Amino acid sequence: MEILTTVATARSLVKNKPLVLVPTMGALHKAHLQLIRIARAHAGPDGEVAVSIFVNPLQFEPGSDYQRYPRPEKADEDFCRDAGVDLLFRPPVGDMYFDDRSTFVEETSLSSVLEGKSRLGHFRGVCTVVAKLFNILAPDAAVFGEKDFQQLAIVRRMVRDLNFNIDIIAVPTIREDDGLACSSRNQYLNVEERKQATVLRKALMKGAAMAGDGEKSAARIVSAVRETIEQAALARIDYADLVDAESLQSIEVVRPNSLLALAVFFGKTRLIDNIRLP
Ligand code: AMP
Repeated sequence: MEILTTVATARSLVKNKPLVLVPTMGALHKAHLQLIRIARAHAGPDGEVAVSIFVNPLQFEPGSDYQRYPRPEKADEDFCRDAGVDLLFRPPVGDMYFDDRSTFVEETSLSSVLEGKSRLGHFRGVCTVVAKLFNILAPDAAVFGEKDFQQLAIVRRMVRDLNFNIDIIAVPTIREDDGLACSSRNQYLNVEERKQATVLRKALMKGAAMAGDGEKSAARIVSAVRETIEQAALARIDYADLVDAESLQSIEVVRPNSLLALAVFFGKTRLIDNIRLP
């Protein structure tokens, strides 16, 4: 595995094989492994898989968990090596961002709802760093997880709008055995919070079951979802919303391609999850 620790070395790579990129913030877990496997399958026998690890300051709002975000460098490096990654790109912050940077990439429609409403500037940070990674590494394809459904939709929109010649590959959400979506942030949870966090999947399944049984009212589904979550004493709902999976706009009546999305705090830890309705 080749480790690239500067933007300059990454840019000077001679590329004569298909390259598939998996952008991450590190603290790698089994969902990242699945993204790497899908990247490998997509790259084909002659292609290469690159993983980037960069905790992107631009996508953290002031006062959020940028400082305490886990950065297990050695474990992540071993993880990538064991997973058969060809290139690990791990640039320092000072190499990615000039102090006087003044150019950003902003998606202005899908970014205004859900996560974008709760985390101001978050998607501007995401789009800017993803565009930079695309320019630096020039991959043929990049892999993103559906756990961050809105991020995936926004990256697809950015790629379309700005003519990046890069395929975007989506990977369904990977879960722990008890249904909690894998996340680097799960390690912030204490034992009791971790136990109660399983309520998120239960609530999503409840909403999906209602829709499956023919319930059409978004308000009734969302209210049942909220009630389910509220049974967990430590849960504090940030949002629970039923949206159109294309436009991400709230809907009142369930229709094909509806998405139930939520963000819930357990203590200081904010978790997100979503489900497509049947
Ligand atoms: P992160 O390191 O959390 O920024 O995530 C890097 C990539 O992994 C993003 O495309 C995420 O959507 C994806 N990812 C993280 N957790 C999961 C999960 N539980 N299932 C599927 N993809 C995930």
